[in-house]
Amino acid sequence: MSNALIGKVAVVTGGASGIGLASVEGMLAEGATVVIVDRDEAALNALQKQHGDNVVTLAADLLDPAACSALVPRILEKTKVIDIFHANAGLYVGGDLVDADNDAIDRMLNLNINVVIKNVRDVLPHMIERGVGDILITSSLAGHFPTPWEPVYASSKWAMNCFVQTVRRQVSPHGIRVGSVSPGPVITTLLSDWPAEKLAEAKAKGSLMEASDVADALIFMLTRPRHVTIRDVVMLPSQFDL
Ligand code: NAD
Repeated sequence: MSNALIGKVAVVTGGASGIGLASVEGMLAEGATVVIVDRDEAALNALQKQHGDNVVTLAADLLDPAACSALVPRILEKTKVIDIFHANAGLYVGGDLVDADNDAIDRMLNLNINVVIKNVRDVLPHMIERGVGDILITSSLAGHFPTPWEPVYASSKWAMNCFVQTVRRQVSPHGIRVGSVSPGPVITTLLSDWPAEKLAEAKAKGSLMEASDVADALIFMLTRPRHVTIRDVVMLPSQFDL
């Protein structure tokens, strides 16, 4: 570890579990103060106890429009500054499209697309005013390859990859970096929603990643000097037939 994030304030949505939690741990190890946003209050309380003043925990269900709108102002009230915003919270809908129900589709598209776009919109004025900032988005390999076992989920991540490419061009003149990480299957609770036969196949092929692998990629991007920008990391699992 290089202590490269000492003095920085980072925000991680969906930071109480899985990839978000690994991102939190990676940034803490680099010396950042981390605002952990999640709907899981019990997990947040445990993280607050564990990390003390190095973290700020913020309970919010980002699918609640009022909570989503209040997020950035609530954070700035507590920390005054946001250097890094990692939009990570996401849901999964997999399997045959004909089996996907309205509520699951709406919630997933709302969290994976609308909430990310709104959170990034809300943090940008602060970063533009300061002339610096890093925005990271957890996308997915499913946003690069047409994965036929998850058309709804894959659509949300293709949308995110388009968002990353376009908003980056809009805000880079203001000194703001926008990057994404696109992992293949990672061992987290989200994976339990994968179609069972797909999960069995990935396990058999030994192609599952650890959340800490993803955090390593995020920290690598964040700790590059600003004139050597690594923008998007696509993490291809070995032995995965894509
Ligand atoms: P996870 O379920 O372990 O963690 C998701 C976290 O988000 C949880 O702590 C949960 O409480 C929180 N969350 C969910 N809905 C929320 C809401 N409405 N408001 C606030 N918090 C909410 O899942 P994960 O695998 O770590 O997923 C994180 C991101 O990684 C997602 O965007 C997902 O699409 C992406 N991703 C996951 C995989 C994988 O295989 N696990 C692969 C590629 C990308």
